[in-house]
Amino acid sequence: MDDKIQQLIRKFIAVPGYYFGINSIVQKILRFMHGSKLIVVNYHSITDVYQDHDLFTISRFIFEKQITYLKERYNIISFSDALKRMRYPKDDKDFLVITFDDGYKDNFINAVPILLKHKVNACFFITTELIGHFPDGATRGIKKYPGMNREDLKAMCNMGFEIGAHTLSHPNLLQIPLNRAQNEISESMKQLEQILQQEVTYFAYPGGKRSIHYNNAIKEMVAAAGYELCCTTNRGRNSLRSFDMLEINRITVQNWWSPFYFAREIEGIFDFKILDKRR
Ligand SMILES: [Zn+2]
Repeated sequence: MDDKIQQLIRKFIAVPGYYFGINSIVQKILRFMHGSKLIVVNYHSITDVYQDHDLFTISRFIFEKQITYLKERYNIISFSDALKRMRYPKDDKDFLVITFDDGYKDNFINAVPILLKHKVNACFFITTELIGHFPDGATRGIKKYPGMNREDLKAMCNMGFEIGAHTLSHPNLLQIPLNRAQNEISESMKQLEQILQQEVTYFAYPGGKRSIHYNNAIKEMVAAAGYELCCTTNRGRNSLRSFDMLEINRITVQNWWSPFYFAREIEGIFDFKILDKRR
């Protein structure tokens, strides 16, 4: 579609579209033209205490609302199902995979019960140095939160959730020597496989933005390590007909999003430029 026409649609139809179901009609037309999309949603920390919030910590209440919303509108599937469905890219609804990055304990305590309640699958990308980690008060960055332990990870595996690697220590892979980057990528796979006693073939780049956190050299390293699927945080949906398995776009949920904003980010067809100034 022409850029100007798209902009006009965004400006004049997005809000009534949300309330009167025009969005879903437009989605159907786009799906007919381009085939089904694979939408990958990315969460980090899910909490029930409203304190020490960063941009990527979502309350349990909002998280459940979002899961309910997504379940009504999308086929929520696992990555292994998504890979199978690539061969049959047409469906009534777009496909959606839910992911969690880093491996926080609150995922196990707060998110997993909600996912089980709504019978929704998800993939968890684990930073292995966070496994069993309990913050000592002095630690910053991702280590300021407790991590899941080995038993949590094994239990999640048994519940049918998918586990992927997210390096050993969550570095920016572009800012460390290549041999260290290689170690971060391959050792995290080995450690998780040893804990879970099963193959780990999914990976998420820490930070996740192309040219800032990874590049082609890192991508090749990840492929050479034996990963078959890698997630970025590059914003966007993926066409089931032609997505790059080693560079999957995701929608990273932030805690200031209203229900309307959440809906438009997931649908991705009415991108208001004016709201994008905030990111
Ligand atoms: Zn991360």
